[in-house]
Amino acid sequence: MPHEELNIPPITTAVLQACQKCFKDDTREALSRCSKCRSVAYCGAACQKADWKGHKVICKAMSSLDDISIYHLTDAISTDLEATNRICEENAQNETRAIQLALRRSMTVQERNLVGWQPKCYGCARTDRIIRLEKSADHASLGCCPDCRLAFYCSQEHWDAVKHFHTGPSKERDGLSQCQMNQQFRMDIRFQYSVPDAGPFMWAPERSKPIWEPLKAGDEGTTCWEEEFGKDLEMAMQGARVPVVIPFLRAASRGLSMPLTILYALQKLHGEDQVWTSKDTLVIHIMGASISKEMMSAQLFEEILHRIPNVKTLKLVLIGPEVPDSGSVEMETCPDCTRKRRKRIHAHHSMLYHDYVHRQSTKFVAPDLAIAFNSGASELATDGSGTGPGASWKETIKLLVEKKIPSVFTSFNHSEATTESQTLRDYGATLLATEDLGPRKNPWGSMHLIPEPNNITGWYGENMWFTGGFKG
Ligand SMILES: [Zn+2]
Ligand SMILES: [Zn+2]
Ligand SMILES: [Zn+2]
Ligand SMILES: [Zn+2]
Ligand SMILES: [Zn+2]
Repeated sequence: MPHEELNIPPITTAVLQACQKCFKDDTREALSRCSKCRSVAYCGAACQKADWKGHKVICKAMSSLDDISIYHLTDAISTDLEATNRICEENAQNETRAIQLALRRSMTVQERNLVGWQPKCYGCARTDRIIRLEKSADHASLGCCPDCRLAFYCSQEHWDAVKHFHTGPSKERDGLSQCQMNQQFRMDIRFQYSVPDAGPFMWAPERSKPIWEPLKAGDEGTTCWEEEFGKDLEMAMQGARVPVVIPFLRAASRGLSMPLTILYALQKLHGEDQVWTSKDTLVIHIMGASISKEMMSAQLFEEILHRIPNVKTLKLVLIGPEVPDSGSVEMETCPDCTRKRRKRIHAHHSMLYHDYVHRQSTKFVAPDLAIAFNSGASELATDGSGTGPGASWKETIKLLVEKKIPSVFTSFNHSEATTESQTLRDYGATLLATEDLGPRKNPWGSMHLIPEPNNITGWYGENMWFTGGFKG
């Protein structure tokens, strides 16, 4: 699945509601589409001109999609949204294949987003391109829901038949409708891109809790986050009221989800046994760590220290092929931690986790927790050959089980979580209770949810689901 990344155009550009170049998202000013591919839009000639060099190649490849036979279509309205999702996926796969053939290379994340998030009819999966190919008098281009402008329809008849799915309460978040979630998402995008090149918004409160208080486990993620961080964020924002700070909290939760998920995982793995909250040194291994997530957010992990005041040293070992090697480095802490001589030590190892363990050989000491955020380990299960992006996890999981390392995996969405949890079991893990560590929704998953690409419904988010936890 493609994942939204920073410094690439927001999803609003792929739905042709923000300028491809400057990302300006202003409904009052009409954007004009690229006259060749009609798959991107610009606020004016200046932006279009400035973007042409970068857009030229993909523009040509997308313009070449003139073979109707690659699309699966039916004229009937479907009220089975899952079935419509499957059609969307099939069409996107075929479209991707055709574009990659024309490009003679694989598509970049940004290019895949143009396919994945292009508008699709909620009732029949038609896209603007399909409508153009059909040259039918019945269909004009897609219209959109006036409230969120992120749900689309090819005709009023199709919209009337499926609209109630969009506006009725969803099970996904606090009973909000898909339309309301879309509106939140649009607000989140505006916030995220309001400062150009600012990078991800990061925030953690600068306070230490006097004692460890077990974290809440509610299903309503928003409530947990608000109760834990609402007041602190209000203070940090000098008295701004809660409704104002919520978009900030949603943005902050993307990074904060990592330390909170670690604490929650430890809490669930150890149950009544709270020894881990007062160890001299607490050691966490992050498996499959990356530069853009775990390394960039290094400072946020201090939140772990701030919630377990009896631990003197937190040692975080980031292991993954993507991170550069480094020995143990003592990180800068907040003034309070410095005064109390509390330490946060980070080390990086550029390799797969099982290679790391093998290399340590007899020196290896099991950590208090080994965790993989959004591991993607499920990607081997769908690929019968045992290769694919998730293949290397097989060996890691076996080793975690064999060495009885307390381990937890998280994933982006429900379907990844269920597949991955089966993978964990297949390789010998005895999972803790489902209501503890999954597969279940993670109360400390990111509140910033992103619409699933290549679908008309569904959401994903950082650590949104716990896949499973085990001690061997
Ligand atoms: Zn522009
Ligand atoms: Zn174009
Ligand atoms: Zn339709
Ligand atoms: Zn809507
Ligand atoms: Zn501190």
